[in-house]
Formats: sequence, structure tokens, C-alpha cells
Amino acid sequence: MKKLKLIKNAKKIVIKIGSSLLVDNGKFNHKWLRSFVEDLNNFLSKTQIIIVASGAVPLGKSYLKFNTHDVNLNMKQAFAACGQIFLMNNFIKVFEENKRKVAQILLTFSDTEDRRRSLNSRETIKSLLLSDVIPIINENDTVATDELKFGDNDRLAARVAQIVEADLLILLTDVKGLFNKNPKYNVDAKLVETVKKIDSQIYKMASSQTNSYGTGGMFTKIQAAEIAGSYGCNTLIFQGNIDNPLENLKKNDVGSLFVTNEKKKKGMKNWLAGSINISGTLEIDNGAINALKHGASLLPSGIQKVLGKFSKGDIIEIIDYNGKKIGKGISYYDANEIEMIKGKKSTFIKKILGYEGREEIIHRDYLYLSEQ
Ligand code: GLU
Repeated sequence: MKKLKLIKNAKKIVIKIGSSLLVDNGKFNHKWLRSFVEDLNNFLSKTQIIIVASGAVPLGKSYLKFNTHDVNLNMKQAFAACGQIFLMNNFIKVFEENKRKVAQILLTFSDTEDRRRSLNSRETIKSLLLSDVIPIINENDTVATDELKFGDNDRLAARVAQIVEADLLILLTDVKGLFNKNPKYNVDAKLVETVKKIDSQIYKMASSQTNSYGTGGMFTKIQAAEIAGSYGCNTLIFQGNIDNPLENLKKNDVGSLFVTNEKKKKGMKNWLAGSINISGTLEIDNGAINALKHGASLLPSGIQKVLGKFSKGDIIEIIDYNGKKIGKGISYYDANEIEMIKGKKSTFIKKILGYEGREEIIHRDYLYLSEQ
């Protein structure tokens, strides 16, 4: 299917716009945004759109007249605090010229990884969309610390797409898409038009090069496509740093499309599928894998190995003997407790741990199984 048609068929789309599109030489690029809004009016007037926009840091940096590359995290946060106002001022201006309303939402990594807060932001976004307002989302850079930070808006956009249950994630960037080799250094590099499975080969293809403003590069875009794919959402990466990028897509049908096999998930399983903050891993035997696939909960008896230190309530990953990811779920026990009860029947839990715990390690309602 032609890529523009795919976009037109989607009812709800999250579009991530990178800094290199919105900021030109430290200045906001009105001309580009006007052309993009023109595209939205021409092609997506009936589609629910959520925008994830970067650019606060470079805009703030130029406002404070900083030229050096070497700046610490606190200074970057200060840039973001200054630049975010410019970013939003310009969004309001350009969208109002087109009689469209926008709103600002700032999210942190811990907001999206916390189920309750992610549900709250979903309800806010829903209300905005119902009121015909386009939410413009950025990471809340001022409060995000290095350890607990998306850092790149690609994965943030994927997590937002999961939260709002979008049909499509679009990552607009300054390259044509994913190439089999780094096109900067290889003249014979070829564009990969469709990716059906994201594996280590695909990650290898992704160059770690970033542009002069953004922090992402192709690697984080692949990670974003993997997050979106895990709950059943396709991702389209294509060149946006040209005026009227959708018009251009109509003419040239370029870009890389990441198609997922996963079925769309709802509720807890949808949230679990997209979760990034994994605290530990359980290796389980084939009997347990089979039982999970038939709808059972994960019991201590099927557990072979406990990896990492995690606590009750944390999200943990489940793998098989070969390290293949089977799924994720919320653990009812701490890692050191599972270490003691692994391989044992649930009836022994009380005797070993000294208290009457739940019979399962992960209940089936809090379990997400990958279909790939
Ligand atoms: N939140 C950062 C900003 O607004 C962008 C991060 C990224 O480059 O993806 O500047």
C-alpha cells in the first residue's frame, strides 16, 4: 500500500517532529511548520493528531547565546526551560493562522512508566482531542534526570502512541529512512522500505549518527518502532526536513515502514507491552512457556533462573533457555524470594518464605506475551 494512503487510513496518529526540522540555525523554522500545517489540512483534516515536538534545548541555547557543545545537564535543563516557551509560542501562532488549537503537555519517563499517571495523561489527551485541540508533547526536560530520562523524543513518541492507542507512529526526520549501511559514508547504501521483524541485524544497520540538534539518531528510532510494534502499532520513518513533507511523500512514496505482527492490545496488556523500565528477568522452562501461551499465570515451578534485583510490583521480562523474549509482567515477589521458591510447587511458598503469598509469580491479567 502507498505510504500516504496508509497515513490517510489511520484514525489516530502520533507524529514526532525532530529538532532539525523545527530549528534552523538556532531560530524557529516558521516556514517549515506552515508547510506542515498546510499538509495536515490537505491530507489529515479528519484524523486525530498528537504531535511530539523537540527543539526546546536548541532554542533555549540560542536564546541564552551559548555556542559551546560541552554543556552539563543542568544547563541543558535551563535551555529547555527557556526554549519550551518559544517552541509553544510558535506552535500557537502557526496553528492559529490555520484556525487550529494546540495545547502543551510535558511528560517524564516516570510519568509514562507509572500506570496511573499514564492513564491520567491519556484522559487529558482524549479530552483535548474531543475538543479539537492538537496536543503538543515534549519531555519535561527541567525535571528529568540522566538516569530517568527518555533523552530522545523518539521513544517518548512511541510511549505516547501506546498511551493513546494510536494506529500509526510517524517519525519525521532529516534522513530518508533506514538504510542498510550508513549513507553518509557508503554510496551504495540502500533504503530499507519495509521492516517486518526488528532484530540485531536491523539495529546494526541503524547508524549511531545524530544530527546537530537532536539526540536520537536512527538507533532510537528503531527502538521506538520496537516499542510501538510490541502493542500492535506500525511505525513510519520518513524525511521531514523539506517543506510539505506529506505532499512529498505522496509524490515519492519514500521512507521506511516498520510493520508489526502483534495484534492491537488494550488496557493493562497494552501498557505492559510498551513499558521500557524493566527491572529484572526470569528464565522459564518450556512447560511454563506452553502454559502461559494457553492463558495460565506464571507459577514458581516453571522458573529456572532469576536475573537482576527487583521488588514486588516491578515489571520484569520473561525469557526462554536461549534468551528469547517471551513477554513481560508485574512480579508479585521480590527477586530474592523468587530465588528461594523457583522450581518449587506453589504449596511450598508458605513454608519457604514464612508467609502465605500468592500462588503465582505473575498473574495472567498482569502478563503480556509477545506474539513474535
Ligand atoms: N526534549 C528535547 C528538546 O526539546 C529533545 C530531545 C530530542 O532531541 O529528541 O530539545
